[in-house]
Amino acid sequence: MDKPTRILIIGACGQIGTDLVVELRKIYGTTNVVASDIAEPKATLLDGPFENLNIMDSDRLYEIVKKYEITEIYHLAAILSAKGEQNPKMAWDINMTSLLSILDIAKEESIKVYWPSSIAVFGPNTPMDNTPQDTVMQPNTVYGISKLAGEMWCQYYHEKYGVDVRSIRYPGLISHGSLPGGGTTDYAVDIFYKAIEGNEYDCFLSEDTYLPMMYMSDAVRATIELMRAPAEKIKVRTSYNLAGMSFSPKEIYEEIKKHYPEFKIKYSPDFRQAIADSWPSSIDDSVAKEHWGWNEKFDLAAMTDDMLYQLKKKIK
Ligand code: NAD
Repeated sequence: MDKPTRILIIGACGQIGTDLVVELRKIYGTTNVVASDIAEPKATLLDGPFENLNIMDSDRLYEIVKKYEITEIYHLAAILSAKGEQNPKMAWDINMTSLLSILDIAKEESIKVYWPSSIAVFGPNTPMDNTPQDTVMQPNTVYGISKLAGEMWCQYYHEKYGVDVRSIRYPGLISHGSLPGGGTTDYAVDIFYKAIEGNEYDCFLSEDTYLPMMYMSDAVRATIELMRAPAEKIKVRTSYNLAGMSFSPKEIYEEIKKHYPEFKIKYSPDFRQAIADSWPSSIDDSVAKEHWGWNEKFDLAAMTDDMLYQLKKKIK
C-alpha cells in the first residue's frame, strides 16, 4: 500500500513558500505539510507544523524527515541572483550543498523531490526571444551556474538512482503574499507598493528591459500540477521551461497607470541591469504544455488588476 503523502517544504518563509504551503495544506491537509526555514516562522504558516531548519545541517534534515515520515520534499531555500553576486562562494556553497544533501536523502528514503531552477540558467549567448527548452546555456552569474549544475545533478540522480525529482525553470515571480528575496525581477513587485503608497518609483532596470514573468498563483499551480502528474509524463529531468508573460518596466508602469494616473517612474539602472541583459526576454514552454498539460492563466492586465486589489486590501 502507498504511504500517505507527507510533505516537507524547505525555505517555506520565502516568496514562493509563503503561497505554496497554503495551497499544499488545502490539498493534503494541514498536518501533512511541514513548513521549515532558517528564519522565524510567519504567522500564516503556523496553522500547521513548522520546524526550524538550516538546510546546511543534514543531520537535522534527516531527523525531520524521520520524525514526520516525509514522502515529498519541496526544496525552495536558495541564495538568489542579485544576492548571489554579492557573495558568490557562499551562494554556490548553499545552493549546491543543500541540493546534494536532499538528493542523497531522497535516494536513501525514496522521497519525491521538487527543486526549482530559473531562467538564470541561460546566458548572453542564448537565443533571447522565445528561448527553447534545449539551447545554449552559458550562464554568467553564480546563481545561474548553480542552477545549471543543479539541473544536471537532478538528471543524474534520476538516471543513476531512480530519484523522482522534478523541476521548473521559473521566470521572475510576482506576488502579494511576501516580498521577494533579492532577485533581478524584484522590481515588478516593488513597483506595485510604490504605486499604492503614492510614491514615485525609481526602477533599477531600464525602461525597455523585457523579461519573462509569471504571477504567483500560476507558478504555484504549475508546481503542484507538475508534482501530481504521472511519472511517465515527466520526460525532462533537468528542468522545464515555463512562460507566463513577458513585459518591460515601461509596460508594467503603463498598465499600473491605468489605475493610478498620477503615478510616476524614473529609471536608474544598477548592477542588476547586466544580469537582466544576460537573460531571455521571452520563453518557449511548448514542451511543458505537451508533456504535462501546462497552461498559464494570467497576462499582464489580469495580474495587475489582482495585485492592486490584493495589496490594497492588505495595506489598508
Ligand atoms: P526567497 O529568497 O524569497 O526565499 C528563500 C527562503 O529560504 C527564505 O525564507 C530563507 O530564509 C530560506 N533560507 C535561506 N537560507 C536557508 C538555509 N540555509 N536553510 C533554510 N532556509 C534557508 O526565495 P523564493 O523567491 O521563494 O525562491 C524559492 C526558489 O525558487 C529558489 O530556489 C529560487 O532560486 C527559485 N526561483 C525563484 C524565482 C522568483 O522570482 N522568486 C525565480 C526563479 C527561481
